[in-house]
Amino acid sequence: MFDENYQFTCVDRFLKYVKYDTQSNEESETFPSDPKQLELSKDLVEELKEIGLEDAHMDEWGYVMATLPSNTDKDVPVIGFIAHVDTSPAVSGKDVKPKIHKNYQGGDIVLENGKVIEADSNPELKDMIGFDIITTDGTTLLGADDKAGIAEIMDAMNYLVTHPEIKHGTIKICFTPDEEVGRGTEHFDVKKFGAKYAYTIDGGTRGEVETETFSADAVNIDFIGKNVHPGYAKGKMINSIKMAAHFLELLPKDRLSPETTEGREGYVHPVSINGNEEKTTVKFIIRDFIDEKLKEYEDLLKELADKTVEAFPGSSMEFKVIEQYRNMKNILDQHPQVEEFALEALRRLGIKPIQSAIRGGTDGSRLSYMGLPTPNLFAGGHNFHAITEYVAVQDMEAATKMIVTLIQVWEEKS
Ligand SMILES: [Zn+2]
Repeated sequence: MFDENYQFTCVDRFLKYVKYDTQSNEESETFPSDPKQLELSKDLVEELKEIGLEDAHMDEWGYVMATLPSNTDKDVPVIGFIAHVDTSPAVSGKDVKPKIHKNYQGGDIVLENGKVIEADSNPELKDMIGFDIITTDGTTLLGADDKAGIAEIMDAMNYLVTHPEIKHGTIKICFTPDEEVGRGTEHFDVKKFGAKYAYTIDGGTRGEVETETFSADAVNIDFIGKNVHPGYAKGKMINSIKMAAHFLELLPKDRLSPETTEGREGYVHPVSINGNEEKTTVKFIIRDFIDEKLKEYEDLLKELADKTVEAFPGSSMEFKVIEQYRNMKNILDQHPQVEEFALEALRRLGIKPIQSAIRGGTDGSRLSYMGLPTPNLFAGGHNFHAITEYVAVQDMEAATKMIVTLIQVWEEKS
């Protein structure tokens, strides 16, 4: 049972973390993409040491790792908990001024600068009556994605250290840079981390357990025309820009696009076009929950590109598929207890599990394929990557309890 007299530390920690500007940068080629992330990471090392995780350290890439040693005689698998320090490049995370709206009574939440979190477009607010809701002043991101996750993991470690009567196996902690720019696992040393299974604490709504992500490929198509001086081009020029335009017109209009799909439907999505008369490159991302469907979509694109070449005699095209990541369900299905124990922890806390498939990738999907099965659990935040981002104090505390309980479930069932 959770000690109901415990003074949670997650909110105080969170309010401290959001003051650090840790926005990652999509344009950058360095790692981390912006070194300002390291300021928070360095201080997290000190905080882990203060809690009592003595081996806490940051590696040359900015990954913070630490260990809570086992205190049980049982042979429990080593479990990891992971969260990311960076915030989205989409909205500034500088000079964040968090505000706690105590005892929410329903309706819209008006931020200091007049921006509104509308109850109508945020149905989750209905379940948060009486909660204390943390927002910004309306000028920046809050950064609950994923500083709430870091604060909750920290608080769970603090709880376990101050409650040594709770038996647990070895627990590993990692705080990563650059998740938001898709590079959070780029230098993640799975072997050094030493966990057998892990959880990212990076989901939204209370109860979320995410074990499925998209499978993803990229496709690059080069349309190759023929350039000659436009003044003397009659009957000779083949303009590859017009080939690309023709090709894009052939794409299905009512299906297979991000704009026309939801739930478990996949899509093909042009993300950039670049070129001149001689050569134009169209880049796509291809997404579905089923690996075989990716091949189907790629065959369709290839067929349309071939048709385009036929329509422009003398032209040619080059078609390249680049594998990106795969649905982590393929891996997690081989280790069903990872999901089961998370659901068991929620049951014990009386939290209704929400099991959804992520229409995107997570660090967990990449880690799962790097040998570390890693589903994603809720951290409590809402409206990620937007000025209207918010998180409830009560949900952060629930996530802390979930982490502690999950660690207990692993010990008990081993
Ligand atoms: Zn996140």
